[in-house]
Amino acid sequence: MDKIKNINGKLQVPDNPVIPFIEGDGIGRDITGPSQKVVDAAVVKAYGKSRKITWKEVLAGDKAFRKTGNYLPDETINAFKEYLVGIKGPLQTPVGEGIRSLNVALRQSLDLFVCLRPVRWFKGVPSPIRYPSLVDMHIFRENTEDIYAGIEYMAGELDAQKLCDFLVKEMGVDKIRFPESSSFGIKPVSKEGSERLIRAAIKYAIQRGLPSVTLVHKGNIMKFTEGAFKNWGYDLAESDFAEKTFTWRQFEKIKTEKGRLDAESALENAQKEGKVIIKDVITDAFLQESLLKPYDHSVIATMNLNGDYISDQLAAMVGGIGISPGANINFMNGYAIFEATHGTAPDIAGSGKANPSSLILSAVMMLEYMGWYEAAEHVYDAMEHVFAKRKVTSDLYAQMEGARLLTTSAFADEIIKNI
Ligand code: NAD
Repeated sequence: MDKIKNINGKLQVPDNPVIPFIEGDGIGRDITGPSQKVVDAAVVKAYGKSRKITWKEVLAGDKAFRKTGNYLPDETINAFKEYLVGIKGPLQTPVGEGIRSLNVALRQSLDLFVCLRPVRWFKGVPSPIRYPSLVDMHIFRENTEDIYAGIEYMAGELDAQKLCDFLVKEMGVDKIRFPESSSFGIKPVSKEGSERLIRAAIKYAIQRGLPSVTLVHKGNIMKFTEGAFKNWGYDLAESDFAEKTFTWRQFEKIKTEKGRLDAESALENAQKEGKVIIKDVITDAFLQESLLKPYDHSVIATMNLNGDYISDQLAAMVGGIGISPGANINFMNGYAIFEATHGTAPDIAGSGKANPSSLILSAVMMLEYMGWYEAAEHVYDAMEHVFAKRKVTSDLYAQMEGARLLTTSAFADEIIKNI
């Protein structure tokens, strides 16, 4: 048993790493055990006895409260810090406990600034779009800034009035339509925060040989926050990744100085050389484009709120939240928590109806993050087989003709049989 370490920015993964896990509330209890069994089977298939994960349970949510009186004990946060890489099931937000969200608390305490959500389609899975096989996108959602930072003031309260007075009297703002009854939210978007997110997205595209990074923003309206995000992204690509990228801004410059033909041939050459194309799209246009021409986008780098909307739309395009994996990662110090992106689904908890795919695929992302690609491939292949045979859990069964209904654990066992 050993610890994963980050040495000079590189992950060092021993053959027998300890992985802390949170079982989660609600369906977390249904999907965590079966998911671990799938991962263990894939690791055995790929490496025999030479590699093995030691799962170490850490407490959070209801289970933690029952055992310790605390929903998120310090030991849990410390375990994720100590072992660097971990995984979690969904956690219910305790009502009336003064806690905004356990997930947000975990992300903040480890400064997990990237929410990474790969979106791909498995043959056989029902989709509302005509060509789901063309979907292969990787969302990098900024996790620590934007309107999500929680800097909000309620209309009618003193702080809202103070802020309003400051804006009107000190800053000369005259555009607040109803100053007396306005609530306020502050949207911090920083150069450092944008750069670290976009840097991680560009590196990911380069490492995986992906064709483009799209910066998604509403810079046409919010020029100094979302517009700055776009400009900082282009600046970063052109300064730190000049050899490996070609930007739409460079395209526009060549077009202005030398004409369209020269710009198009520069773009073509960059694509032939395998450079990552850095482009940008306004958020509303992106939501349309991703439906109509999903093949035009590969890696997507965006701020917190946009990323929230985009994640759910793209998830729906490939089968919904039961099958959408995710991870929260600090690509600088290596901390990473992989997680099912759905909630605790109290309506189906304990009934055998939950689809464990989201957590299984999150664990597969974790294997890839650890560099255990062979094991990850075994799970992908097995899942493809199972979906192609139309063996599914109840969420997908309801939308498919001629499918066979399996319980949560029977579905996981079916994957294991195909590994
Ligand atoms: P939810 O994701 O739990 O459920 C929404 C719907 O999707 C429900 O009908 C549910 O049955 C279904 N569903 C979700 N996951 C499924 C799966 N794996 N298989 C089949 N069906 C699935 O969202 P909610 O009801 O809004 O939230 C319930 C609780 O979860 C809340 O306390 C919320 O705060 C919490 N939550 C936690 C996380 C997290 O831990 N990352 C994320 C979202 C919500």
